[in-house]
Order: sequence, then C-alpha cells, then structure tokens
Amino acid sequence: MEKQLNGIFREWMRVEQADETAPPVIWGHCVVHLSHPEFSGNVLHTSGVLAIVQHASFLVAETRNHYYALLGPELEMPAGVEFDPMTYVTQQRGEPRRTDAWASAAMNADRNCAHCGGTGLYRYDERHVAICDRCCKHNQGWWQLEGAYGADNGRWACKAGCGTIVDAPPLELNFLPRALI
Ligand SMILES: [Zn+2]
Ligand SMILES: [Zn+2]
Repeated sequence: MEKQLNGIFREWMRVEQADETAPPVIWGHCVVHLSHPEFSGNVLHTSGVLAIVQHASFLVAETRNHYYALLGPELEMPAGVEFDPMTYVTQQRGEPRRTDAWASAAMNADRNCAHCGGTGLYRYDERHVAICDRCCKHNQGWWQLEGAYGADNGRWACKAGCGTIVDAPPLELNFLPRALI
C-alpha cells in the first residue's frame, strides 16, 4: 500500500516513548484527519514517527503507514515534569486560523460535489466564501446559539461554519486510539 497524507497538524510536539528504542510520537492539534474526519479539530497523536522532512513552509512526518503535514509551531516538551501531552498541546493552542478551516473543508470535500465543485468552499457573493454544507462532515464540534437567533436560540450550529443547525449536538469524539506500531 502506498503511503498517503493522512492529516495536518498545527501546534505539535515530539514525545519520546518510554521504550527508548521506539520512535517518538507526535501530539498535535489536528486541523484535518483524512482517515477519521470526525477527529478533526481535536488534539491527537500519530504512531511512531520514522522521519521528519522539511518542505517549503511546513514539515512532513512519516510514520509506518502514513504521512502527516506539520504546519507548526513546534512546541518544546516541558523538561523534567510529569505532564499529559494532550492537555499540554491544548493549553498551547493558538487562535484558530480561518485558512485552517478552509484547508479542512477542501480536504474533506466530495470531489464530485456539484455545489462546490469538489473544493469544499463556494463563493456566495463578490466578497464572501462559504463552507459547503453538503460536503461538511460537521466534525469540529457544535456551538449553542444564544441571543439574536430568533427561533434558533438554544439550537446548535456546526463549528466548521457550514451553516448547519441541529436541535441537539451529536456525541463528541475526543481521542484517536493509538495505532499499533
Ligand atoms: Zn461540496
Ligand atoms: Zn458542518
């Protein structure tokens, strides 16, 4: 099987494994996860990383089965303290970037979608683009509408920004089980 890009990480950190001969794993904020789109937007880790290669503006990490793009920034592991990598990366997370939402939409899009042409985005007037609601996997969580939303107050909107609104948010998945090395 040919290795393919499986995800894109923002803030990320190398973590050595307890068994020192095992390759390090990377914990990071996953902008988009291609095998499991429902995990996008969470802090995840890879399996053991065999190599990290510098490209023009990002790094590519290679595991036994996949590649991951690391947009960064890379986080330094705090020295000499017990810590939980998922919590640490969550604390170091920067502001969400709009272009990350677009990258996620593009990578999750149905290539044959007639609405967005397979890009995950469509232009609805001169100055605005929107996330395609037909391609959106609604995988970045939900926020509750309060205030000026009329009949939709108390309902939940897709955080990816596609405009989908539901009565109750589906259960959230938080964690990708570690792949076997
Ligand atoms: Zn679409
Ligand atoms: Zn959505």
